[in-house]
Amino acid sequence: MQRPAIIHKTAADLAVPPNLADYAATCAGFSWDAARAELAGLPGGGLNIAHEAVERHAHGPLRERIAFRFLGENSLRDVGYGELSRLTSRFANVLRTLGVRRGERVFVLTGRIPELYIAVLGGLKAGCVVSPLFSAFGPEPIATRIGIGEGAVLVTTDLLYERKVAKLRDRLPSLRHVLLVGEEDGATAIPATQDLAMLMAQAADTFETVATRPEDLALLHFTSGTTGTPKGAMHVHGAVLTHWATGRYALDLHDGDIFWCTADPGWVTGTSYGIVAPLLHGVSSIVDVADFDAERWYRILQEQRVSVWYTAPTAIRMLMKAGPELARGFSFPRLRFVASVGEPLNPEAVWWGRDVLGKPIHDNWWQTETGGIMIANLPALDIKPGSMGKPLPGVEAAIVRPREGGGVEFVDAPDEEGELALKRGWPSMLRGYLNNEERYRKCFAGDWYLTGDLARRDADGYYWFVGRSDDVIKSAGHLIGPFEVESALMEHPAVAEAGVIGKPDDMVGEVVKAFVSLKQGFEPSEALRKELLGHARKKLGAAVAPKEIDFLPVLPRTRSGKIMRRLLKARELGLPEGDTSTLEAGA
Ligand code: ATP
Ligand code: MG
Repeated sequence: MQRPAIIHKTAADLAVPPNLADYAATCAGFSWDAARAELAGLPGGGLNIAHEAVERHAHGPLRERIAFRFLGENSLRDVGYGELSRLTSRFANVLRTLGVRRGERVFVLTGRIPELYIAVLGGLKAGCVVSPLFSAFGPEPIATRIGIGEGAVLVTTDLLYERKVAKLRDRLPSLRHVLLVGEEDGATAIPATQDLAMLMAQAADTFETVATRPEDLALLHFTSGTTGTPKGAMHVHGAVLTHWATGRYALDLHDGDIFWCTADPGWVTGTSYGIVAPLLHGVSSIVDVADFDAERWYRILQEQRVSVWYTAPTAIRMLMKAGPELARGFSFPRLRFVASVGEPLNPEAVWWGRDVLGKPIHDNWWQTETGGIMIANLPALDIKPGSMGKPLPGVEAAIVRPREGGGVEFVDAPDEEGELALKRGWPSMLRGYLNNEERYRKCFAGDWYLTGDLARRDADGYYWFVGRSDDVIKSAGHLIGPFEVESALMEHPAVAEAGVIGKPDDMVGEVVKAFVSLKQGFEPSEALRKELLGHARKKLGAAVAPKEIDFLPVLPRTRSGKIMRRLLKARELGLPEGDTSTLEAGA
């Protein structure tokens, strides 16, 4: 089907104040100082994420408002801002009683249970550096990360501890305290651990938030490991400014919103936007302990009256795979704004959002390193399906070619490809990779931070993702971005997901090879393969279209939901798989 290139914003789509309804006005009126005025810092000076996110509201009119609603398999628990303040104070007091000092590292390894959120915010309150780990990690990735981060405290559950940490404990000399959340009432008597609930019960529920400086380290977040070994990005307390601003300008958070960020706090999205940004705005967040399930997710959107939803292309593609009938059994009259991040969002997915959910989906681009959203289809913009949108106010982006011997050359011509770069200096920028100064240095060419992603900018200033520089395919003198090929394949009604790689070839350098998984109701066959090859050739032309297509039941993905093209390639070529610590189980 021929689709228009733009989804125009309409007044009905916008809950934004008039000054945000226009991109130029938004940029003109923006400064980080304006955001700073919203977040005044601690009364006696200093700044702390926990103060801005929790304390500010807990003693004001939002005291009784729900901060988090935790949905269990069959249960529901609300934690209000006032209660969150008391619980995080108890946790901060627990750390203090244990002799954990400011700046020491607290790791959290649990599912999305209240204790995770309490430990993250309570740890920050106490001036500690917090690192939430994804609970589905195996023992090795857990030990590596706690090792690199020199964790002093680990908060986990008795089951996870026994299964994954206990046998590696002697490899973690820095780890002085393991605090367990019992799966059952009354924790088990596991040696060298303590029961968190008991410690919390004994602790006072008031705590004077530690007055950290803006440049003090707050969070340690590991990258997704899509292109190799995960890197530990260091983020500071001053980043809160950005999360307030991007929560407003990119996610459209407003008073009274019910916000659902589906990312796990083990990934930066789940912390910056699953914890910090919604709390800064004093809105209520939904947290679902369960993993993706199409019907459950539709039910949550409907029953919890979610008004702003932040999710990822992989989830959207899985909803598409489940078919439109399922979606039509639900309605989402409250849902105002949908945003997506983590991977390129295929135009087909944006159209599905419009047609099936009844809402356009606003793609946005950022990385663990950037700390927060950098480029987005803002509410102030018309959406161009397939584009990441425009840089946020206060963010300077460019398409560049790094010069031999230093510096960059700017690619100013519209639609020309190059590396996406950001001008150093936005407040939430990483301050380094932990214990990897060399790798951090390589991210910069002069004043420009090089993202490792290739993109182009069109004449209207919209940015278009081409591919990660590692994934770009060189075939017969053409540079082919896998995203374009994947998106074309997804336009075929049978295709649920596609991952595209370059396969070495003597004649042309690399040939384009695609791996696809099919939607419900379609089966792999020779006839379908031919049809898909023909479909792609018609859409893309012979030079860019895949020469080979394989069917896979699922594509290998990182735990954060990204297609691992490097793994598709390694498997295709029979090469070692490299670092697979973040690979999703069963993929
Ligand atoms: P690693 O750096 O360890 O290889 P990673 O880059 O996947 O892993 P993250 O920081 O979680 O780790 O992901 C950021 C990357 O995700 C971006 O650099 C980009 O490649 C991709 N990405 C994020 N959002 C988008 C988007 N909207 N469109 C296209 N790509 C995106
Ligand atoms: Mg990366």
